[in-house]
Amino acid sequence: MVATRVVNALSRRLAAGSGTVAGGHVGLAVDPRLLEHLAAGRRVALVSGTNGKTTTTRLLAVALEGSLGRIATNATGSNMPTGHVTALAGAPPGAPAVLEVDEGYLPGLVGALVPEVVVLLNLSRDQLDRTNEVRMLSNRWRRAFSGSPATAVVANADDPLVVWAALPAAKPTWVAAGLSWRRDAIGCPACAGRVEFSSAEKGGWACACGFARPRPDVVLDADEIVLADGRRHRLTLALPGRFNRANAVMAAAAAATMGVGWEESLRQIAAVGEVAGRFSVVEVGGCSARVMLAKNPAGWRELLDLVAPGERPVVVGINARVADGRDPSWLWDVPFERLCGRQVVATGERCRDLSVRLRYAEVAHRTVRDEVAAVRAAWMAHGGGTPGAADVDFIGNYTAFTDVMSRATERTRA
Ligand SMILES: [Zn+2]
Repeated sequence: MVATRVVNALSRRLAAGSGTVAGGHVGLAVDPRLLEHLAAGRRVALVSGTNGKTTTTRLLAVALEGSLGRIATNATGSNMPTGHVTALAGAPPGAPAVLEVDEGYLPGLVGALVPEVVVLLNLSRDQLDRTNEVRMLSNRWRRAFSGSPATAVVANADDPLVVWAALPAAKPTWVAAGLSWRRDAIGCPACAGRVEFSSAEKGGWACACGFARPRPDVVLDADEIVLADGRRHRLTLALPGRFNRANAVMAAAAAATMGVGWEESLRQIAAVGEVAGRFSVVEVGGCSARVMLAKNPAGWRELLDLVAPGERPVVVGINARVADGRDPSWLWDVPFERLCGRQVVATGERCRDLSVRLRYAEVAHRTVRDEVAAVRAAWMAHGGGTPGAADVDFIGNYTAFTDVMSRATERTRA
């Protein structure tokens, strides 16, 4: 077959230049079905959701590696088809694939690749008020799973919009992984009524129309994973935060549906200390900083919960370039009040917008526009001295985070 030979030749060329998506663009222009050809004969897992995609993809790939060998994966977070082509072309034929997928592309990929398993983490709006888009997305996912009886779905039972999408799936595994951001999930997707979250029954939710949280197959209970048959597994992670425990239990549940045992995958997952630089400790501005990335209100809320009980000074960086979203009005949806009483420095190109927000939250802070100077100022205000394991917590949105990473030296693990 000429077409196959062309695709194979293309694959080799793409593999030679792997690490960029340029090759993927060329390949898809030549053959729009290139992705299907490249995925043929592989076991495929897809990971999607608003937050945690990159981390969960990495954890699932790591969980499978020990048993299944080399995994094709888009580790750099290029989560659209061009990135998927690059990831598949760079891996040996037949190597299983674990792909992070942008939420909007997921229905198309479910149809084209017929994956063995799809992991659905959560659905909330991105930087701006796009609640309707989130609800439309849930419906588009739902239609995709209605037509895919061969695909197993691992879904977060605590997110009503994810449950709505996954209900028609042939083999759903419901994971009680938690959901701390509920503002986008209170409108019932079944009847447009109101979903009530009960605080008494942990994680429970229901609407008067009967749409309710399904009985979970897997429950994340603090540092333990409880299975439906009563078995318990201890969850130990090098990655910090409640949200990373949720990512880990989703990844391990997906690995279990692919035949890798819980003990095995949890052992592999425990060793992961950073993902694409996130949560790593870097040397910057003469001290060491733990750097974290937050891209939307739900992500900010999780990270503020993580740093709020700590002692370290906190540097918050906000830019508003295209990759961040031009309009920083989402700052008003983020509970910066949690930083009250902490030493805070506002930084980034939009540090003045952030400063206004912090003033309304009654958070005492300084404003230093340059990110590296801000980290240094926070450290000095905290007493300076000999740089330690992590002197400062830095949370930035996308380009503020990448700016700091590009100016940091000598990375060490958190
Ligand atoms: Zn309802």
